Amino acid sequence: MPLRFFNTYSRALEEFQPLDASGRTVKMYTCGPTVYSHAHIGNFRAYLFEDLLQRHLELRGYAVKRVMNITDVDDKTIRGCQAAGVPLAEFTQEFKDAFFADLAALRIKPADTFPEATNPGHINAMVGMIKTLISRDLAYQAEDKSVYFRIKNFPAYGHLAHFNLDELQSTGRVKNDEYDKEHVGDFALWKAWDEADGAVRWESPWGPGRPGWHIECSAMATQILGEQLDLHCGGVDNIFPHHEAEIAQTEGCTGKQFVRYWLHCAHLLVDGQKMSKSLGNFHTLRDVLAKGYSGREARYALLRVHYRAQLNFTWEGMEEARQALGRIDDWRARLQERSACVPLAESGQEQAGRMLYFEEALDDDLNISAALGFLFDKIRETNRTLDQGTLTPTAARGWLDWWERIDSVLAITADEAELPGEVAQLSEARAQARLAKDWRRSDELRDQIAALGWEVRDSKGGQKVTRRGGA
Ligand SMILES: [Zn+2]
Repeated sequence: MPLRFFNTYSRALEEFQPLDASGRTVKMYTCGPTVYSHAHIGNFRAYLFEDLLQRHLELRGYAVKRVMNITDVDDKTIRGCQAAGVPLAEFTQEFKDAFFADLAALRIKPADTFPEATNPGHINAMVGMIKTLISRDLAYQAEDKSVYFRIKNFPAYGHLAHFNLDELQSTGRVKNDEYDKEHVGDFALWKAWDEADGAVRWESPWGPGRPGWHIECSAMATQILGEQLDLHCGGVDNIFPHHEAEIAQTEGCTGKQFVRYWLHCAHLLVDGQKMSKSLGNFHTLRDVLAKGYSGREARYALLRVHYRAQLNFTWEGMEEARQALGRIDDWRARLQERSACVPLAESGQEQAGRMLYFEEALDDDLNISAALGFLFDKIRETNRTLDQGTLTPTAARGWLDWWERIDSVLAITADEAELPGEVAQLSEARAQARLAKDWRRSDELRDQIAALGWEVRDSKGGQKVTRRGGA
């Protein structure tokens, strides 16, 4: 079965064909965070979908070259650094560091490059593109000294978002608060400096100022990956105006199709509503971890629904994620016990033929819900044969080999953390108490272990002690 993705540009499922003639290298650009605060779980849902996409392409043998930008200058970062009374770079550093820590907690593979908008080399590339657009009559400097893209000279503008320019004017999608523009939808490529910007400014042929958000992505994507990309991803709220503008700017400069496939992740709701600070349902990853959940559990909870369906985040959903991972952990522990005497790689291909469904579901526009449904069906079936004692050690090893393969995409295996001395002693004492059928003592010891931040679960393979929240 070929790989297929839903392309926002055509609004259709399309077979995936890389631009690279060898057919093995894939260029992927993903819009990253604006580092003025901690990213929220809706942002991370999009980054996790992109991680799933990259990992599945790699499972299918592609070499993925991925870029994720860091927007470290815009209105919000400028306001933030002024409120904090520190230079812009100092203000954004804290949130860059936090962002990378969050990515690691969620086991998101780092991109090959994380370009920062304020890098002088990238600013030069942005200025270069704006010059080209002006020379082609696709941009102009207005009386307010800012430079704007002239959308009426780019007929394809509106194609990605599927509306035309008249609609843009009549629906009031774009606020007309910049009176110097020729068209209400013209967007800023270069924002002229004003006093509110303080020390944040770069020189340019149009006077001091700073780049607009959209040109940052066009310049950094083409500078690092070249004029044409296979995949460009983001959340649905990036479609307009951000990605629409990226197409206009880049294709206005190169005359070539910028991106082959546009993929967008649907919204995340919290308790059935749009996340907002005023509703009190706005969560960062830190908020989730502070409630005692692990990054692994958050990863699973945010990954388990198809990326084009809305995902409703709830605390019950986090509990379900914990339980689902517990079932996987128990299943793996039982298989390990059963297959202990079978060396790796001796299991043969016993499972291979009937196990392809998981990967084929992901080939079909990353249908993770179907893939996970299949996984849990198989867990149920195998547990039954383990209960009946009919699963051979070789077959058990085969399932574990299969798990290794699909976990290169899921990345949800528990860390095999060493138990700290005190926890190990208490666990040993509890195992003795259970052998002696001293249930009260066993429960006391469980509570003591819990107080140290560890959780005991009893399974058929004996007791399992894991860091609270799964590690
Ligand atoms: Zn972008």
